Amino acid sequence: MTPVIALVGRPNVGKSTLFNRFTRSRDALVADFSGLTRDRKYGDGKLEDRPFIVIDTGGVSGFEEGLDAAMAEQSFAAIDEADAVLFLVDGVTGLTGADAFLAEHLRKQNKKIWLVVNKTDGRDPDVAMADFHEMGLGEPIPIAATHNRGVLSLLESVLEAFPDDEERIDPMTDDSIRMAIIGRPNVGKSTLVNRMLGEDRVVVYDQPGTTMDSIYIPFERFEKKYTIIDTAGVRRRKNIKEAVEKFSIVKTLQAIQDANVVVLVVDAQTGLVDQDMHMLGFALDSGRAMVIAINKWDGLDPYMKDQVKEAIDRKMPFMDWADMHFISAKHGTNVGHLYESIDTAYSGARSKWSTNQLTNIMQGVVEMHQPPMIGGRRIKLRYAHQGGSNPPVVVIHGNKLDKLPGSYKRYLENAFRKALKVRGTPIRFEFKVGD
Ligand code: GDP
Ligand code: GDP
Repeated sequence: MTPVIALVGRPNVGKSTLFNRFTRSRDALVADFSGLTRDRKYGDGKLEDRPFIVIDTGGVSGFEEGLDAAMAEQSFAAIDEADAVLFLVDGVTGLTGADAFLAEHLRKQNKKIWLVVNKTDGRDPDVAMADFHEMGLGEPIPIAATHNRGVLSLLESVLEAFPDDEERIDPMTDDSIRMAIIGRPNVGKSTLVNRMLGEDRVVVYDQPGTTMDSIYIPFERFEKKYTIIDTAGVRRRKNIKEAVEKFSIVKTLQAIQDANVVVLVVDAQTGLVDQDMHMLGFALDSGRAMVIAINKWDGLDPYMKDQVKEAIDRKMPFMDWADMHFISAKHGTNVGHLYESIDTAYSGARSKWSTNQLTNIMQGVVEMHQPPMIGGRRIKLRYAHQGGSNPPVVVIHGNKLDKLPGSYKRYLENAFRKALKVRGTPIRFEFKVGD
């Protein structure tokens, strides 16, 4: 599974700074799931091809020196969720009571711990580290997060401790379409999973694979192989009425990373709430193909349906590439159509295009609408090639592309998307200056 790294330490030691270094955080995936995670912040990152998840507990502050109860609760919860704990301390202020308190707790946990001394910039490392040797948490590691010093090697050492088991999935189902059914609690994930498995012609294999968190349910439908990554834990419960599975963001993030297609379930009857948007943000950031299921469509009168549709269009304008289905998991309405979109999204994400094809499209697009002049010279797009798939990446080469305005980039993206006729997957664009 994707390793989960928790950043803990008292306020102001530099957790958020390190979090931003670790994650690609275009927008840090801040998940404020009230009552569920309080102020923990989740992000995902990659070191080369190796994905990982980071949890930052820096959200609570106001207690510059001490570690108040809320902070401690945050840290403990993050430690519970994590495989690796980076315990940050401050090389400028040295060891404090709050550090000792956290260390005490950490020593009792059966977790891999890295004691990280931050803010060692402009200081004699020996002096900065002196206090921390006696904490009984191993050799302290000096870094300077703001200067990006020691950060990469720290991350490498953490990931090295977690062997990259490529074969996370049973080889039998390796060629299946893996779909993660995600959504906040109570939107109807369990009901949907049961409904999807109960569809006509669905043959569920006997042996679901389980990971620590989610359940992998392999099955066939019309002789096509699928695997549901069930974050709701349907199969673990004897029936749906039984104790509700604990909702976990880490579980959701891991499921997204392991999936080919994400099925985001939202509840039409409550409408889109912030938590839905956070889930959407996670999925978008991962670059996964996606299908949106607006559930509980039954029982809505036509007026309410219009309201829901309008709200969704307003809140998800950037999601026009994803198919959206209005379903009732409870009654089975439209669930069959979900499969069509899942198949389309899956093949869309694995699209392969030749350089020729992409360059032709690019030329047509440029002819329709030229890029602007910069300092008397026109920005020139030379050719396009595919830089990857899942999600597909289109790399455009040319001159002065770093000057290409955002509006023109959006025009290009839309035009390419139309010409390539892919649905269900994001397409990423990269711009390379030079040949
Ligand atoms: P958090 O409360 O633990 O999340 O800490 P922040 O990441 O918000 O950092 C607290 C302060 O320490 C900020 O003003 C940072 O700029 C500063 N800081 C973080 N890392 C370093 C570092 O490596 N060196 C120095 N000198 N300052 C740092
Ligand atoms: P989960 O927490 O996302 O797995 O949600 P569940 O599948 O446990 O469903 C939560 C509640 O919503 C249950 O009471 C379900 O019966 C109900 N529910 C699920 N799907 C539908 C639906 O399509 N229509 C209606 N009206 N209720 C539904």
